[in-house]
Amino acid sequence: MLDKFKDECGVFGIKPHHEAANMTYLGLYALQHRGQESAGIVASDHGYLTCHKQMGLVADVFSEEALARLPGDAAIGHVRYSTAGASLLANAQPILINCHHGQIAMAHNGNLVNAGEVRRRLEGIGSIFNSNSDTEVILHLIAKSKKKTIEEAVIEALSQVKGAYSCVFITKDKLIAVRDPHGFRPLVMGTLGESIAFASETCAFDLIGANYEREIEPGEMMVVNELGMRRSSRPFKEKPARQCIFEHIYFARPDGIMFGESTLAYRERLGAKLAEESPVEADMVVPVPDSGVTAAIGYSNLSKIPFAFGLIRNHYVGRTFIEPKQSIRHFGVKVKLNPVKSLIKGKRVLLVDDSLVRGTTSRKIIKMLRAGGATEVHMRITAPPTTHPCFYGINTPTRKELIASSHTVEEIRKYIEADSLEYISLQGMLDCLENSNPDNYCHACFSGEYIIGFPGQDKESMEV
Ligand code: AMP
Repeated sequence: MLDKFKDECGVFGIKPHHEAANMTYLGLYALQHRGQESAGIVASDHGYLTCHKQMGLVADVFSEEALARLPGDAAIGHVRYSTAGASLLANAQPILINCHHGQIAMAHNGNLVNAGEVRRRLEGIGSIFNSNSDTEVILHLIAKSKKKTIEEAVIEALSQVKGAYSCVFITKDKLIAVRDPHGFRPLVMGTLGESIAFASETCAFDLIGANYEREIEPGEMMVVNELGMRRSSRPFKEKPARQCIFEHIYFARPDGIMFGESTLAYRERLGAKLAEESPVEADMVVPVPDSGVTAAIGYSNLSKIPFAFGLIRNHYVGRTFIEPKQSIRHFGVKVKLNPVKSLIKGKRVLLVDDSLVRGTTSRKIIKMLRAGGATEVHMRITAPPTTHPCFYGINTPTRKELIASSHTVEEIRKYIEADSLEYISLQGMLDCLENSNPDNYCHACFSGEYIIGFPGQDKESMEV
């Protein structure tokens, strides 16, 4: 089965740079939070593309020797996380192919909603697929294209797919960055001397010392040619922008600029807005680290309830959310977080987190806080209830696993055993945007307003 709506990824690309693979390694290192399952780089050297990719974290996948085997003045890279069923090396990216256009490799962030349909059509005429990732569909379409230039072939291929793609391509002499017309997932451009770099987030530029220039706009294609010159075009039919609001709320690193907003400042405003919308008497504001920290500061500043690190995180444990089995996930929370008993004992705790998905994490944390001596635990969430799965590149579980899809806030409060539970309102979340237009955002995971439907969507595929 196709890995339909389960990818979370980070991409990077640079050209020309005499240490292109090293720069890409650093870029991926900064983007590690976007995917921890596999990492890969393809470098282009005198017209020849070489690939190294493996399961694992960036620092484990790339040794000095592995990077030395990736010579060249241009490179792209990818970090990926997916669900257990699809955690195969075959799905790791970049994907490198050789076709009548020559060698071409691609790194993709986002999910295509019609990949299954296109794949079945291609298989029907004899195409053989190596992976179950939707990205491979794009490469097959490129290989099938009769267009003369690789840019035209990329445009023709992308015109046949629907959904989210922020991606980078590398060929023997070009680096190409493209963002889908809705611009679901981020993609930014920077410069480092003569080099042009692309990345999912600006933090990748900070690490390599590149200057952030601007976003690749929704529907824009940027080609860096053999001379290192760039050319922008808008090859697709214009569509309304639908940038992912959840990148701001949770997924992106807080130290960057995304969709024109400082992620950290936005999260702080979310916390303050929540304090305004749902005040409560409490002795301390405690964040669920790390995701709730910035919003908790915002809540504390507005409510004047002191901020306290009442929960300490073990930074060497992976995200509990990505554990495939329920039993391990429950255990994982305990391994990852520990309450500071001396702080919380006898106190009314206002607990802040960015989102509540299945509810298992909050339930466990609240139990831990009570066991540690908290007299009351009030939960505040800086996102509206997550009622719908994401089809565009965030790893949300299926609809029936989303507790808010079938339970009221009061039922969820009971399940997580909180004294009170409040979510930010959808309008409140949008009102916190300061530098970007709220109409340009996708919030389907909270509102169910999908701009592109999934074939056979509604009940069936949302419940698979
Ligand atoms: P849950 O137990 O499913 O309610 O998990 C909620 C926790 O998962 C919150 O602390 C969120 O920060 C975190 N979370 C939300 N979405 C994701 C995601 N796509 N990947 C990993 N963690 C997430």
